[in-house]
Amino acid sequence: TKWVYDFSEGNKDQKYLLGGKGANLAEMTNLGLPVPPGFTITTDACRYYLENGGTPPDLDEQVTEYLDALQKAMGKTLGDPADPLLVSVRSGAAASMPGMMETVLNVGLNDESVHGLAQQSGSERFAWDSYRRLIQMFGKTVLGIDGELFDDALDEAKAEQGTDLDLDLDAEHLKDVVDRFKTIVREHTGTDFPQDPREQMDMAINAVFDSWNADRAIIYRRRERIPSDAGTAVNVCSMVFGNLGADSGTGVAFTRDPGSGAQGVYGDYLQNAQGEDVVAGIRNTVPLTDLQDIDSDAYDELMTTMSRLESHYRDLCDIEFTIERNKLWMLQTRVGKRTAAAAFVIATQLVDEGLIDMDEAVRRVTGDQLAQLMFPRFVSGGDATQLTQGMNASPGAAVGKAVFSSEEAAKWADRGEKVVLVRRETNPDDLSGMIAAQGVLTSRGGKTSHAAVVARGMGKTCVCGAEELQVDTKARKFTAPDGTEVNEGDVISIDGSTGRVWLGEVPVEPSSVVRYFEGEIDPESDDADDLVRSVHRLLTHADEVRRLDVRTNADTPEDSARARRFGARGIGLCRTEHMFLGDRRQLVEKLILADGDDERQAALDALEPLQKQDFLEIFEAMDGLPVTVRLLDPPLHEFLPDLTELSVRVALAEERGEPDEGSLRLLAAVRGMHESNPMLGLRGVRLGLVVPGLFAMQVRAIAEAACERKRAGGDPRPEIMIPLVGAVQELEAIREESERVLAQVCEECGIDVTPLIGTMIEVPRAALTAGEIAEYAEFFSFGTNDLTQMTWGFSRDDVEAAFFHQYLDKGIFGISPFESLDRDGVGRLVQIGAEAGRAARPDLKLGICGEHGGDPDSVHFFHEVGLDYVSCSPFRVPVARLEAGRAAL
Ligand code: PEP
Ligand code: MG
Repeated sequence: TKWVYDFSEGNKDQKYLLGGKGANLAEMTNLGLPVPPGFTITTDACRYYLENGGTPPDLDEQVTEYLDALQKAMGKTLGDPADPLLVSVRSGAAASMPGMMETVLNVGLNDESVHGLAQQSGSERFAWDSYRRLIQMFGKTVLGIDGELFDDALDEAKAEQGTDLDLDLDAEHLKDVVDRFKTIVREHTGTDFPQDPREQMDMAINAVFDSWNADRAIIYRRRERIPSDAGTAVNVCSMVFGNLGADSGTGVAFTRDPGSGAQGVYGDYLQNAQGEDVVAGIRNTVPLTDLQDIDSDAYDELMTTMSRLESHYRDLCDIEFTIERNKLWMLQTRVGKRTAAAAFVIATQLVDEGLIDMDEAVRRVTGDQLAQLMFPRFVSGGDATQLTQGMNASPGAAVGKAVFSSEEAAKWADRGEKVVLVRRETNPDDLSGMIAAQGVLTSRGGKTSHAAVVARGMGKTCVCGAEELQVDTKARKFTAPDGTEVNEGDVISIDGSTGRVWLGEVPVEPSSVVRYFEGEIDPESDDADDLVRSVHRLLTHADEVRRLDVRTNADTPEDSARARRFGARGIGLCRTEHMFLGDRRQLVEKLILADGDDERQAALDALEPLQKQDFLEIFEAMDGLPVTVRLLDPPLHEFLPDLTELSVRVALAEERGEPDEGSLRLLAAVRGMHESNPMLGLRGVRLGLVVPGLFAMQVRAIAEAACERKRAGGDPRPEIMIPLVGAVQELEAIREESERVLAQVCEECGIDVTPLIGTMIEVPRAALTAGEIAEYAEFFSFGTNDLTQMTWGFSRDDVEAAFFHQYLDKGIFGISPFESLDRDGVGRLVQIGAEAGRAARPDLKLGICGEHGGDPDSVHFFHEVGLDYVSCSPFRVPVARLEAGRAAL
């Protein structure tokens, strides 16, 4: 097996083998860009290492071969005492995991080669600083020593010199720091810091492999749905130095603003520093534009390189670079992470620049991003006071109680509190806190600091670099410039789009994207901003290319109208049980507990006009579009008084010696109907078969409403849907009854209404016998909520809160099957049902109306298995439109 690739051997499409970083270093090398030479050890080697607990037997030999070639190319030998070649050893997985895994710089330095480096560089200080960095990084990463020990030792050395700046330490001081660091290594590992350069390199490579399974990496992967067995590649790259003096430095840059998509120079630069100083946000950077004054040649070359990269990748790129004595080196590039808004804006910009077509532009945005853009934003007003303004690192409006550590953030969030995580800076260990928080506020670090990069990737609101705030995490408080103290638990609001921070709760307003969907902003007018225009163009294109129709789940006229404005082409699920709550619950209770036909008929007669009015209004809101009305479905107990409460009430009444007849009768009836598993009990079609007249009443209400709409000149398109069918016989019986009622109403009204009659497929047996069921159904709608519940045997109301977090932790599944369709199990049933149904009735209409109808990944699945439409809640309609378009491309 070939385990090692020179940078000149790979390309950008090999990220599964070479990792994203390695593949892009190879791409840049082959583009002729200034990349320091090096080689990549493949993810295959990592997987081998993780599976077998050791490196492949022939890896060593291959590394030697590539190292020899690198040494020859550089004219130097690794760790040579006179003129050492130094290398960096960096992780790089296929999916970007910012800061999650390990990096060791300056490998090859030891007690002897540090002198060679001093001589070659002409700087003793630089050589000793590089050596102390190696021991520090190596100690922490490879040897697993607590990093704070090194930080503390360095702080001590600074304190002894009466300074708090690294740069004030001279060569002699740093030599002393190296000694202290070596002592730490000896004390904590029982051995000396390894002096053999090749041994250093091999140990660093293995440490990178191991870092794949570091806790924070595991959490990140789970959240980002990155497969846990993908492994990381290792990049061994010859070192270039940004810390050789004022003519050197290091920076990060984006080819466009990853926050808004605006074109321009966007990045941070740090003079006389190595890369990790920037990303960690340890020292404050200057804006990249300042580099023009610092070193205009390097700046010009950087600009040219960035524009080459952007046209080559046809996308926003982010890069890391180093300038070593006025010479530019490219250390990394990749297609850059961006905010949701920027994704939309950039996609259409690139179309206008002729770099991509509309199909590609639609592929480049996601339903999740669109969903993020539909969140509300802050408006001015309210009595919150602005404390400061930091950098707008990741947009959104977050309101929550200030907490000062990730542990607290997670704890508070677990108890249902909304929190904002406040830190001086974040590091990868803060991931769990960032996930738990509504937003993140830091007082240090630029827009490319860890907090900013990770928050943007997660779509989490972030304000960073709010330097005016004195954050004291130990005392759990921060102090604003005006002296206001904000303690743990105080509510703050942070605006990731402007960087503003307030004490108190700021009111929020709907997003411009939602206002556009509502028809309040005309995308062609001046009211529309770039974002609205982009969303409009991309959704219009998605609508053109998609095959799936999008309907909505709605049971009020208001929701129906809104969904229609959001682009729904009909209702896929109108849940009639929602119409029986509130005052009407009594009527249903009477119906269910009715003693004899008369009582029952009275209850039905009272319900019918109410039902009819519901349908009239919905048919009007959805005029000309299909409205699938589902007959009553839910478990009985939702309509009956709670057995325990009722028992107590009756017992108390008896104790007082005043038992009342009605309550006693009710109690007996409720007890008689009590079910241990209501979700598997008397509900859906079973209810229709057991409670005489119930479904007939609903069908009558539907038909009469339709007639009345027609008479008024409307175009109602009702469809009648029978829930929870498991056997064709159930459907057959209800269908017969429904057709009889429909015929009656038509005759009475003198108007023809012939709704389609169909069923939900939500019991596994229905999917398995779909061929038979289709004989009596003109359409199927997959009820994937119940289908998931019944396929897995998971109570949909209980399990997510009860134990799914443990299932997720154990990796039994990566996401709740109630959230995203389980393709292999539940999906298989959908597929079987669809195929068998269509085989029996080729014009069978197929839809889905479970929650999965608005889940991006599930929408792609429904497209693949050939359904006709998805139906989802009104706010997910635009998401489903977009994803249905993407699925068709
Ligand atoms: C379903 O089960 O997927 C469905 C849409 O019905 P409900 O959620 O109302 O049970
Ligand atoms: Mg259901």
